[in-house]
Amino acid sequence: MGTPFAWRKPTVVASSQTSIIESREAQKTFRERVSRFVTQSSFESTDTLELQRNIGQRLMRESRFLKDPNFQKASNADLQLLAEMYDQYYFGGSLLPWARSYGLDFRWSSRMTRAGGKTTRTVTVNRHTGARETHYEIALSSTLLFQTFRDMSRPIKVTGIECGNRLEAMQRVMEHEMIHLTEMLVWEDSCCAANRFQGIAYRLFRHTEHRHELITPRERAAAEFNVRVGSRVCFQLEGKQFQGIVNRITRRATVLVKDPTGERYSDGQHYRKYYVPITLLRLAN
Ligand SMILES: [Zn+2]
Repeated sequence: MGTPFAWRKPTVVASSQTSIIESREAQKTFRERVSRFVTQSSFESTDTLELQRNIGQRLMRESRFLKDPNFQKASNADLQLLAEMYDQYYFGGSLLPWARSYGLDFRWSSRMTRAGGKTTRTVTVNRHTGARETHYEIALSSTLLFQTFRDMSRPIKVTGIECGNRLEAMQRVMEHEMIHLTEMLVWEDSCCAANRFQGIAYRLFRHTEHRHELITPRERAAAEFNVRVGSRVCFQLEGKQFQGIVNRITRRATVLVKDPTGERYSDGQHYRKYYVPITLLRLAN
């Protein structure tokens, strides 16, 4: 089963001192150009495939770390470089300058254990002036990308397209997130389950899905250690042996251990929560 890409609604957070005054004319030009590119362009699959390959090869040539399609290391700068190439080829070179006129960051996230990528808009309101400041961020999950194309082998589809290596998967996730960024800028809201998103994703990149099948910690735990949510497990901590039930699997497993001093759960029992690396768990008999 695929896991949906997560999308976060715009949120209002703490206040800030600065306010950005931007040229309305420049923003209007960016909007017109990006809207035109995403609503009017359509690529044949052979053409978009060639463009995508060129982008991947250029990234390997220009990046400091990313020298192999199954690269072992990548920096936030690589994400930015990749996005810039997509902007040039697919968005008229206007998407990133437009987003940057507000504020834009790229980063790898190790905490994302379900979503392959996430595009976030944060609106900050200055308490004194009432001015709104908008910031965009595109994050890709390093946990998912780096544990896929490693030791477990099964076909991996991202956005409906089979990926042969980590670089291809990274590109598919970035393509998806750049459409989220586009929609947030042009139409305010963005939803990859909706027709508008899927139309753009298909015309530009021939995506047929808005899900990924990257290997999650949950799948790895089940395949390698036979540990699943609900499994009864043992583990050692500071020389003591514990037994409990797996309640959640992210980067580590959350294990509930019966303990009268712990929190009361809906089954009426008291449990304490332990966050345990999956490699340290043994299935209980
Ligand atoms: Zn999405």
